[in-house]
This record gives sequence, structure tokens and C-alpha cells, in this order.
Amino acid sequence: MKTGNKVLFSLAGCSVLVMSNVLAQTSRPNILVVLCDDLGYCDVGFNGSPDIKTPNIDKLAKGGTVFTSAYVAHPFCGPSRAALMTGRYPQCIGTPYNLRDEGYETEDGVPLSETFMSNVLHDAGYYTAAIGKWHLGDADRFSPNNRGFDEFYGFLGGGHSYFPDKYKPMYNQQSKAGKYPIKGYIKPLMHNNQPAGETEYITDELSNQTIRVVNGLAGKTQPFFIYLAYNAPHTPLEAKEEDLKQFATIKNPDRRTYAAMVYAVDRGVGEIVSALKANKQYDNTLIVFFSDNGGNFNHGANNYPLQGLKGDTWEGGYRVPMFFHWPQTIAAGKKSDIPVSSLDLYPTFAKLAKATLPKGKILDGKDISGILSGEPTAADERMIYAFRHREGYNDVGARRGDWKITRMGNEPWQLFNITNDIGEHRDMSGQFPDRLKTMVAETEKWSRTHVGPLWYYSAKDEALWKAGILPGFGDTFEVEQLVAPPSSYRLK
Ligand code: CA
Repeated sequence: MKTGNKVLFSLAGCSVLVMSNVLAQTSRPNILVVLCDDLGYCDVGFNGSPDIKTPNIDKLAKGGTVFTSAYVAHPFCGPSRAALMTGRYPQCIGTPYNLRDEGYETEDGVPLSETFMSNVLHDAGYYTAAIGKWHLGDADRFSPNNRGFDEFYGFLGGGHSYFPDKYKPMYNQQSKAGKYPIKGYIKPLMHNNQPAGETEYITDELSNQTIRVVNGLAGKTQPFFIYLAYNAPHTPLEAKEEDLKQFATIKNPDRRTYAAMVYAVDRGVGEIVSALKANKQYDNTLIVFFSDNGGNFNHGANNYPLQGLKGDTWEGGYRVPMFFHWPQTIAAGKKSDIPVSSLDLYPTFAKLAKATLPKGKILDGKDISGILSGEPTAADERMIYAFRHREGYNDVGARRGDWKITRMGNEPWQLFNITNDIGEHRDMSGQFPDRLKTMVAETEKWSRTHVGPLWYYSAKDEALWKAGILPGFGDTFEVEQLVAPPSSYRLK
């Protein structure tokens, strides 16, 4: 093999063929997705946090490649996760809104016509486990066990309280009194279709369950796909005393609690890495770490140097910390500014798993396994979008290469050189009006591929759609004539 590589190298005079050859000869990796919830861009050490310690996560980031321009497909939870699992922009499959989380059992969920990445990996022979938050449908047919996961340990809603000794008595009391609905945040966790019997702080519980799955596969040749979706550091802000002690110097109580919650994730990641090493699975496990959307600085997060927060199409809403770690293949100590999307994970994982995609399956991302293994890439000319329906308006962000267009509500479109101006402070639409128009026109064209929502988050959302005020593409993509933003807009 060594000789073959040398021959290829000398004949081709470049490393591309060598890297492809290495990839082809690598056995299929285990895949571990570590997804945080509402983690800010600057809230891990490897992305520059000045006050949150994440030594285990940082060690992995240093041993892999950090992507500084990583985007998720939506600036809040449910649609972002639907996009991750389906490989589709949420607007293109009718899921631009969160599922309501009032405790009612609804019949809504991500359409079954969309094959999840877990289905594809399962069918390729992977052991598949979903651990943590789901938020893609409560009804049985939408549950992880019916969407390609051999195993599910977690909760179906959009968030959860963290201390079982606090939420379980509340749940039991309400249940005994016959209360309906009971909020999902206090419902006990499930292991497949049975009560999980959790006793520990939820972040620790989810880490421990991941370790259990890893240990359970010891000695087996079957690769695994674990989707570890921590609900930390999403609200409610609840941390363990021992973790809070690590951050005694942080004055703001929300920030201190948030930091301690992230620290608990880091502790879990360290323990999971130890389990992978003990089982000799570490070198052949691809670990992808990121957040489902930007942080909310009203709840302790820090997105510096990005503008905006969770929910926005400023960078702070959907540009997230991300790294890939896979000792066998991915370069260590590297940072890449190439824009990547969470939509890229589906085709990339399918490629690495040598999986077969369903016939006709549409994927909005692209296979980036070549980038991961160090192949030189041409300039990326695709657009990466974010599109959020507000109450009668849309926020839009679209990036291509160094450039990004942004529109917040009915404020004017702006154009930024996002490579030089990551904070979106210097609007360059006056200098490059044609560039702005071209990118807006392309985004408008993409918007025409959207379909109507399958459900609405609120009665007001539904009324706006039924009155024809949403989707509101006409107002959103009109560059010349702009209406004044409503004075209340910023407060929403
Ligand atoms: Ca989230």
C-alpha cells in the first residue's frame, strides 16, 4: 500500500489522489454527533470564550479541524433539527416552525416522506442511537424508534428541566391530579417506549447513556451512529453546585449558571472520549460538535464577535461553533474558513458510511468528505440560506463565499463582506448594488421552492398565512421600494 501511494504521489504530483486513496481504504467510521442547544458562538474555549472552560471539547477541537464559518439551516431549534435529520431546508419540507410544546399530544411531525439520515445509516448496517432532545414529533410514528434509530433515550419535546429530584415530584403530583396537558419539560425521560428511570442531572444522564451505548458495542464490528443531542445550555438555566463553583468569578448569575451547564457538557464529552479510547474506537470515530442555533444573550450566552442572537438571520442567529475530529483521516490543529452547513452532514455521513440514498432523495447540502480529508477545493459558489418568518415579515440571510446579504424584517437589504466584517457592521450595498441585486434575486428564486407550513407555532402565525400576509415574498424581495419598519419590530 505504501509503495502504491508513493507511485501515485510521484505520478500525479499532488496529494489529492493520495488522500482519496487513504479515504477509500479507511474502514467505515463510527459517527458521533454532539449537538448542543442554543450554545453561543463564543461559548467554548476553541472559539475564544474568555470565561467558560471547556478543556475536553477544546482538546478534541485541537485534534481535529475547526470550521469557523459553519451554519445551521435555521436560527432556532425544531426547524434546525428537522434540516439536520432530513438534509433539507425546513421551508422546503413544511417545517419552518417549532412544534408547540404545551404538553398536548399532537399529530404533527416532520413528514414521513422525508427519509432521515438515521434511516440511511441504519440501512447501511450502523447501530443507531438518539440520546437527548428530539423535537421532531410526539406521535409514535414520528418518534426516533420509528425514524431509523435502534435506540432512543431522552425526551420528545423542545426542552427539559435538569434535576429529576425536582421535576419528577411535580410531574407525579400533576399526573395524580389528572392534569392535562402536562408540560413536556417535566415529563420523565423515556428509554425507547419505557420510562427511563433517570436519577441524575440530565446532562450527566445523557453522557452516561452515551457511554453505555459505546460500551455495549465493545468488541463488535458493527459501526455506530450516535446522535447525542444535549439540551444544555438551553433554558431553564439549572446547574450543579460543583459546576457552579468553577465559575465563582462570573458575576452575572445567568452567565455563571450557563457557564456551569456548558462545563457539564464538557465533562461528559471527556468521559465519552475515555470510553471510546478504552474500547479502541477513538481513532475510527468521527466526532462532529456543534450547536443547533446561536446563543441567546438574554439567557447567558455570548455570540461575540457576531451580531444578533438565536432567532435572527444576523450571523449570531445561525453561525455556530463546529469541529470535526477523526484521527484516522482529519488533519489536527487546522482551522478552515470554508463555509459549511449542517445540511452537509447527511450527504457526508452517507458517503463515509458507504450508504445508499433512497431513489430521488433531494439533499440541499453537499458531501464535504473531501474537505475533511484535506483535498484542495475550488471557491465555493453556492448560497447558504437562513429564512425566518416573523409575524408578517421575514428575516433573511444568504451567504456566498465572502459575501452575505441580510434583511431583518422590513429594514433595507444590506450587503456585507462577511470575511472582513464578521460583525456585519459595514453595509456595502451602496458600493456593490449589482452584487446585492444578484444575490437577492437568487434568494428570491430559492424562496419559490418553499412549501406552506405543515403546522404553526401560534394562532397568530396561522392567521397571517391564511390572510396571505405570509409568506410575504413580494415585500421581502422588493429591493427598490421599502416600507418603514414597524416601531414595535425590535421588541418582538
Ligand atoms: Ca436551540
